[in-house]
Amino acid sequence: MKALKKFAGVMFYDNQDLHSRLLNLFLVAMLISAPLIIVSTFIFSRSFVQLIPIFVLVVLAFISTGIAYKTGNTKVSGIILSIGGCMITFPIMYFLDGGMRSGMPIWFLMGLVFNWFVLEGTISYVAFILCALIYGICFHLEITHPEMVLNVLSREAEITDIALAILVISVIFGAIFKFQANVYERQKTDLEANENDLRLAKDEAEKANKAKSEFLANMSHEIRTPINTMLGMNEMIQREAENKDVKMYAANIESAGNSLLAIISDILDFSKIESGKMELFPTEYDLFSLLNDSYNTVAGRAKTKRLNFTITNNPSIPGRLYGDEIRIRQIINNLLSNAVKYTTVGGVELILDFSWINADNVVLDITVRDTGIGIREEDFDRIFSYFQRVDEKENRNIEGTGLGLAIVKKFTDLMGGTVTVKSKYNEGSEFKVSIPQKVSDPHPMGDAATLMFESGSEKVKYKELFKAPNARILSVDDVSINQDVIKMLLKKTEVTIDVADSGRECIALTSNNFYDLIFMDHMMPGMDGVETFKLIREDPNNPNHDTPVIILTANAVAGAEDEYLKEGFAGYLAKPVKGADIEETLIKFLPKELVTLTSDM
Ligand code: ADP
Repeated sequence: MKALKKFAGVMFYDNQDLHSRLLNLFLVAMLISAPLIIVSTFIFSRSFVQLIPIFVLVVLAFISTGIAYKTGNTKVSGIILSIGGCMITFPIMYFLDGGMRSGMPIWFLMGLVFNWFVLEGTISYVAFILCALIYGICFHLEITHPEMVLNVLSREAEITDIALAILVISVIFGAIFKFQANVYERQKTDLEANENDLRLAKDEAEKANKAKSEFLANMSHEIRTPINTMLGMNEMIQREAENKDVKMYAANIESAGNSLLAIISDILDFSKIESGKMELFPTEYDLFSLLNDSYNTVAGRAKTKRLNFTITNNPSIPGRLYGDEIRIRQIINNLLSNAVKYTTVGGVELILDFSWINADNVVLDITVRDTGIGIREEDFDRIFSYFQRVDEKENRNIEGTGLGLAIVKKFTDLMGGTVTVKSKYNEGSEFKVSIPQKVSDPHPMGDAATLMFESGSEKVKYKELFKAPNARILSVDDVSINQDVIKMLLKKTEVTIDVADSGRECIALTSNNFYDLIFMDHMMPGMDGVETFKLIREDPNNPNHDTPVIILTANAVAGAEDEYLKEGFAGYLAKPVKGADIEETLIKFLPKELVTLTSDM
């Protein structure tokens, strides 16, 4: 029984291909039917010669089964049976056993079908045609030379022979179909179960990934809120402190706050890239202001490390371009931050160049060069992968997430550009990013260093940009300290500021008072900022039905601004907010007659 099971296991295991399984079924069926035929031959007392081909068939079946069983290869077995059995033995049996008036035509049918079922590819077509030809010749010979057909059977033996052939062959075909149907059903059930498991696993993975992305997005949102307070208050210290040391402490807080913001942006982008939601948001932008901001973001850190930080550019570079400004800023900031981070003596250089692609497009070349610790050539590829940091031992005192360069590479790829790195270990590195950009205004930008000098890039003493003592605005935010930040930052402008700490309070205040402008936070418990804004807009009796509403939110993901503007907000400010940005927004949206500019803007 055990041996039988093992035999069945080898002959019919599930992963076997269809042809092999069919051959094995034929073999087993023949081994079973051969004794039946021998018995019938004895009953009808046929001659010994008639038994020889049957014996040959059984031997062939044994040999083929043996080969299939031993090697697991059924191709050879199939060919042996097709030639030896179907093409040679069957025709001999036809003439020995009574020709057309016997069960042999039915065996011919099996011989023909055998080639289709068991053999593969061209061999099956060739074998089928050969078999058909041979069987046709047999029929023709019986007609033209009837004397060739020996041992014509009695009527009784003929019917029994045909009945036996029908029985055996129908058992073979029946078994084949039943077996195949069984395997098919089983595989279908397995497949469905697998598909189900796979779907469940995929759903789980997607859920986990979504949860991770949402967590990162929420975390970045949550972190931006306290940074808003820190940097807002810090700006007040910088404005009001007279003591030089205090001013320096505040400058350091600002620099650290900006580094923290850069890390949060990287984390947020990483989560967006991971969830496949990373898109570009091209806008028209001013190249000099981008360069100036990037310079200022790291200038403090370079100064603290006593590094020589210079900026050079091709002065004929077009001044206004069209592309994803936020991403380009991040690329430059990440490269500059690294250069400052990994350099202890010498300097860092930001070089901007370009080349025309055609009249409307340029390739922007951003190069950041440093005289820092350098990177080994074998590490060049690795540094662009997520969370990969090299030289961890030497760099253990330098903080990093291993996200910066991976994000630089991802953004550059997304914009259809290239990043290259050149570096000599212990001498310095050079990263070059080349990205195609549309030209909005071909007017040359001029020399950035001169422009910076003229615009007074160095921090000057704060002075409010305007005064508007008759303007009245409303600030809606559930975090009261954020209200204080707005109030303090706008103190000198003399604008009257009312505050609401929820959507409900905002509706109550706006129903009874008129405001020249409203700053609206988005995430608030209860009614959120967008819902509150819609209620004001939808109520024709609300005196602030047409008041410009500016969303002031910690939601700083790429594309957020577009979405808020689509909702109908007049403007967008991201937390942490700078005093200058708030003042510029007010100048833009307050009624002109209420605003007195204090400088020639
Ligand atoms: P990290 O947050 O660690 O700086 P990055 O992805 O920005 O992550 O950089 C990956 C690694 O590449 C860094 O850990 C550092 O080893 C190396 N690297 C990047 N920029 C420089 C550079 N300017 N000089 C030397 N090594 C650098």
